[in-house]
Amino acid sequence: MALDVLASTTFDLGALVRRHQGEQLSLLSGYINPQMAKVLKLIGFDPVYVRGQGAHLWDAEGHDYLDMLSGFGVFGVGRSHPTIKEAIRQYLDLDSPNLIKMGTQLLAGLLARKLVEEIAPKGLDTVFFCNSGAEANDGALKFAHAFTRRQRVVYCETGYHGLSVGTLAVNGCKEFRSDYEAILSGGTEIPFGDSTRLERELSKGDVAAFIAEPVIGHGVFIPPDDFLPRARELCTRYGTLLIADEVQTGFGRTGKLFGCEHWNVVPDIMTLSKSLSGGYCPIGAILYPRKVYDAVFKSLDRCMVHSTTFGQNDLAAVCGLATLDVIRNEGLVENSARIGAYLKSKLSGLAEKYELIQEVRGLGLMLAIEFGAPKSLALKAGWKMIHGVNHDLFCQSILVPLMMDHHILAQVSGHGRDIIKLIPPLVFNQTDADRFLDAFDQVLAAAHRLPGPIWEVGSRLAKAMLR
Ligand code: PLP
Repeated sequence: MALDVLASTTFDLGALVRRHQGEQLSLLSGYINPQMAKVLKLIGFDPVYVRGQGAHLWDAEGHDYLDMLSGFGVFGVGRSHPTIKEAIRQYLDLDSPNLIKMGTQLLAGLLARKLVEEIAPKGLDTVFFCNSGAEANDGALKFAHAFTRRQRVVYCETGYHGLSVGTLAVNGCKEFRSDYEAILSGGTEIPFGDSTRLERELSKGDVAAFIAEPVIGHGVFIPPDDFLPRARELCTRYGTLLIADEVQTGFGRTGKLFGCEHWNVVPDIMTLSKSLSGGYCPIGAILYPRKVYDAVFKSLDRCMVHSTTFGQNDLAAVCGLATLDVIRNEGLVENSARIGAYLKSKLSGLAEKYELIQEVRGLGLMLAIEFGAPKSLALKAGWKMIHGVNHDLFCQSILVPLMMDHHILAQVSGHGRDIIKLIPPLVFNQTDADRFLDAFDQVLAAAHRLPGPIWEVGSRLAKAMLR
């Protein structure tokens, strides 16, 4: 392959993309993640997308795909939002003095002030900028250790806070931890929603932080109504910091600006990422009180004791500032609540109609459809066969025809669970919702016929896995 980037005298991005369009899968397979490439090919999730806008993607033939995954939640404002694009264009023309490091930054300062004064709950008056959700949580855990001088962190079963070594130690998804247990320490797991277990751990007096997502992303689990208020109370009583991981739930995903607002809980530390990026530039943020800042950055010679090279970078700040404007101006939090409620009520209607659906749950545009073992004999046999091979296969057999026949992109939620998760961009509208509901109805109707196309997909995937 010609190393055309190096050889050309002027870099022409358009020409580069045109010349190599269609090589996506072979590049992924050759240089990045061959196993992922195999999976995408096997399940038919390998269209060559050439454009994205709002809640839609298009392939080279002009097929319109509905995006109900939003890049794992980064496209809160939708893809290619004109306001964010214009902000980036304007920024590029400034030739801004970015990343001086031993100097000051205007744009990151403005974003920090906006987050503290207009967005964050009262008391969270200091911001640390980083580059991802895991990095924000890693930093929050360090800050809690510095403030409390304690060792242990309590986290929830099935909770997800990232895959760095620090956050893996508080990751409640076994499938991510299993190969690395030997290097993980300091975390204690409790069942999500169990405040008795939480108190048992906190009362030992050695817990620096309790970290939790207000709504667990992997599987979309909503806590009992008294859990987070009780957790707040217990953390205060036992001197533990409550870290709310709002990386996914933040900025309107659950129909409120932050997930914690559903229960009127103010955490000691809040971590943010995903949607704040506008879908363009990685960003993470830790919002925390000045007393915690003082414990971490406690003297002049420790002013950089926690730091990352690309933190406070201009482009991330521009995207963050523009994103906050869009979320407010377009009423995206309200839209998430409204369209989310519509989708949920229609999906609950489908649950009455189809025995394979066990539960529909979620808040705002963070929804889950959980399937369960059917009662009728014929379906039971298919269910048993598929689950005998692999616990992710049934939902994948639903997602394959959703993609192939209806061009809808969605995901299985976590491993070993019969849960499909929907997190479309918050600009999702009624037409988008109806398109999904109609397609989902058709796929479910087919899933209730055995033999039928869904079960054929299942057995094809099963054979591929056994090979
Ligand atoms: N926390 C939550 C709740 C998440 O959903 C995620 C990612 O999905 C993370 C943390 C990790 O974020 P990142 O992948 O940016 O490291």
